Amino acid sequence: MSADVDRLRDLIAEARRIVIFTGAGVSTESGIPDFRSPGGIWTRFKPIYFDDFMSSREARRETWRRKLETDKTISVAAPNRGHKAIAALVSRGKASAIITQNIDGLHQASGVPDDKVIELHGNSTYASCLDCGERHELAEIIPPFAEAERLPECKACGSEYVKTATISFGQQMPETPMRRAQEETLAADLFIAIGSSLVVYPAAGFPVMAKQNGARLAILNREATDLDRYADLVLNAEIGPSLGAAVGLN
Ligand code: NAD
Ligand code: ZN
Repeated sequence: MSADVDRLRDLIAEARRIVIFTGAGVSTESGIPDFRSPGGIWTRFKPIYFDDFMSSREARRETWRRKLETDKTISVAAPNRGHKAIAALVSRGKASAIITQNIDGLHQASGVPDDKVIELHGNSTYASCLDCGERHELAEIIPPFAEAERLPECKACGSEYVKTATISFGQQMPETPMRRAQEETLAADLFIAIGSSLVVYPAAGFPVMAKQNGARLAILNREATDLDRYADLVLNAEIGPSLGAAVGLN
């Protein structure tokens, strides 16, 4: 494993413009379960599709019940060594952007400026109105729901479609983040995928796009991924310790 960490350190040293791509695995060391590992969210909840959220009040209530549940971990989570190593690459000017599938806001919490974090699946730390786009703070929504399962309504337009600012299965991908992720991917000479099983599309298309465009591709994940065959380096290790060592974090 240490030879692979050395190899990752070399790839980072040789790169001029790195794009970091992260999945749920980068946040497990912060206490947030990932999707597909044993005990992960997947094994407990079936996903609620976007159409169901729109057509059923009961699906909306179930969505907010789950939000209360997942918030017990997300709202108290803090960035870990992996997030900090990634933040160091950004602050040193090595990494131009972080493309993330995560919705927990921990890259921003680790000190990375908002404009360097491209969120493909949105953000669960606030909510927005699906009709008019008005932002709503969870602090206003959660107490009435927790007390009497009262569904939020938009304070700007009265819509009953107020949802955490995340992208559900079956919901259209957000246009601007998708375009920016593509631009960053095509400008990178090293693309590092970290803590993702690389099975959720279109997000998992970016590592392949980078490779086909001539960038080097490194994959850091504790287990094999679907895209290992494309990679110049596959590092099967725990993220915090290995990335911390490769980046030279004290
Ligand atoms: P995933 O669960 O499919 O894959 C995570 C991968 O990380 C797994 O292969 C696992 O073996 C690996 N991993 C977990 N902890 C690790 C560690 N400490 N060191 C090394 N490897 C580790 O997650 P995904 O690929 O991101 O895709 C699932 C979807 O889940 C995404 O769309 C994302 O939006 C959502 N999600 C987000 C969060 C979050 O925001 N923290 C949490 C759960 C799910
Ligand atoms: Zn509205």
